[in-house]
Amino acid sequence: MVLLMVLGKLDADVVLVNGKIVTVDPHDTIVEAVAVKDGRILATGTTSEIMELAKEGTEVVDLGGKTVLPGLIDTHTHPSGAAGRLYEINCRSPPVKNIGEILEMIKDKLSELGPGKWIRGANYNDIKLEERRHITRWELDEVAPENPVFLSKETGHLYVVNSRALELAGITKDTPDPAGGQIDRDSSGEATGLLYETAGRLVSSLIPPLSVEEIKEGMRAVWNQFSEWGVTTTHDASGFGDAIRAYQQLLSEGVQQVRTLLMVSVNPQGPGGVNLLESMAALGVESGFGNEWLKVMTLKIMGDGSGSGGSAAVYTPQHRGTKGLGLMTTSPEEIKRLTVKAHEAGIRVSIHSIGDRGIDLALDAIEEAHSLKPVPDMRHRIEHNSVCTPKQLKRIKELGVTPSSSIGYMWGIGDDYVENFGSERVRWLHPHRTMMEMGITAGGNSDYPVSNGNPMIQIYEAVTRRTRTGLVVGPEEAISVKDAIRLYTWNGAYLGKEEDIKGSIEPGKLADMVVLDRDILSVPSEEIKDIKVLTTIVNGKIVYQR
Ligand SMILES: [Zn+2]
Repeated sequence: MVLLMVLGKLDADVVLVNGKIVTVDPHDTIVEAVAVKDGRILATGTTSEIMELAKEGTEVVDLGGKTVLPGLIDTHTHPSGAAGRLYEINCRSPPVKNIGEILEMIKDKLSELGPGKWIRGANYNDIKLEERRHITRWELDEVAPENPVFLSKETGHLYVVNSRALELAGITKDTPDPAGGQIDRDSSGEATGLLYETAGRLVSSLIPPLSVEEIKEGMRAVWNQFSEWGVTTTHDASGFGDAIRAYQQLLSEGVQQVRTLLMVSVNPQGPGGVNLLESMAALGVESGFGNEWLKVMTLKIMGDGSGSGGSAAVYTPQHRGTKGLGLMTTSPEEIKRLTVKAHEAGIRVSIHSIGDRGIDLALDAIEEAHSLKPVPDMRHRIEHNSVCTPKQLKRIKELGVTPSSSIGYMWGIGDDYVENFGSERVRWLHPHRTMMEMGITAGGNSDYPVSNGNPMIQIYEAVTRRTRTGLVVGPEEAISVKDAIRLYTWNGAYLGKEEDIKGSIEPGKLADMVVLDRDILSVPSEEIKDIKVLTTIVNGKIVYQR
């Protein structure tokens, strides 16, 4: 038995016995039973050893042979974005098949909201529609001539608006493209309604924001969804303003369900824009500020664009979207300035980088910061780290960077990536096997709600490299089930600099665990994506039960 050194009585609050507990400790030990006390793991061992810690009042849970994993960690999500989608039209395909269906939904929403109100929609993907093209402003005008309409693509980064929205934003034939964005135009120079990257902000900045109460209501639904998926910790990639306020209020109201690490968003959509960094530095807020429920982790800096939308920064032109070398939504000079400043203030950075060129520009900034002030074990992060060739991987290793890899893209938008980058380049899409061999510690993510937030689907993707249509992308980079579990547990904790308290089932760590409906280590790999979570335990308490 491995037992936590404790003072006082050794009576557990809860014991889980007769199970297959995958501890994800350094030796990948599997044990039968675990004891929990005061929200932490007290001991692990055989059923008879652990039963010795069950005294009067201890809750005994017989697992009946079921498999238990440490609580799952998704290292890049947008909970407030997902909460906001509660109030938007859901254009996700499937089930949505074509443009006509989206227009019908807009018509319905219009009669619900009344004249003049903003109509927002999300999750549409031009490639998944029967027409395989974007909706135009003129099609939107037919159903919504008076109300402004704003639709965002499944991955964000691309938006479609109608004429009323363009008019409100003052976008005309003569409006120049904003820095880091592009206004799509037809052959006569007229805006088509499609807006790339920062051009979307010309319109979205006019939409009235949700109230804190609305965000909280949406967040409760998002947290329930996370608990159903076994996600016990998530790294929020758009932490700012009212979203943080909503977290604090929910926690103080006693809703302790999902632990959140914040990437404080320095981008213009956040309050105060770039001043946020200066304020944090002036306040003395460093990475790690907070507690085990809500903590500041990094400063989030937007780098390049999107791989699905074709605006990622690459060295060889992409086949979709801008069809060029992509866009930097923040200039390389500004990324460098922010990174150096954050690094000096003890704040880690998370730089959004999808394309190989975008990743290099992010690494340039991190390299500069370290050369001015070497800090060991800083663990700056690259978010998504999608098309990452050996050249970038070598730099990542040298700079001690911890990538948060969007391996979760593979299922939902993997086909888009293959189409955009071509089959040769996607060999280096989310290269987990090579990263492991090089000793790079990467976490996994879904970028939820961009792709499916269910970690079982993401683990399946890391193992099979299969897209929803059955395409196998870069099979050389497939990893074992055991290693894929580690990606969503111990590695996730490492990316949060929390490997001392999370990521494995070991005495002294937080008692965050999930019970599965079948054994992930022995089912055929095709079945992994269908595994369901039976019970989710956070801080020693059951927060979900199927
Ligand atoms: Zn994201």
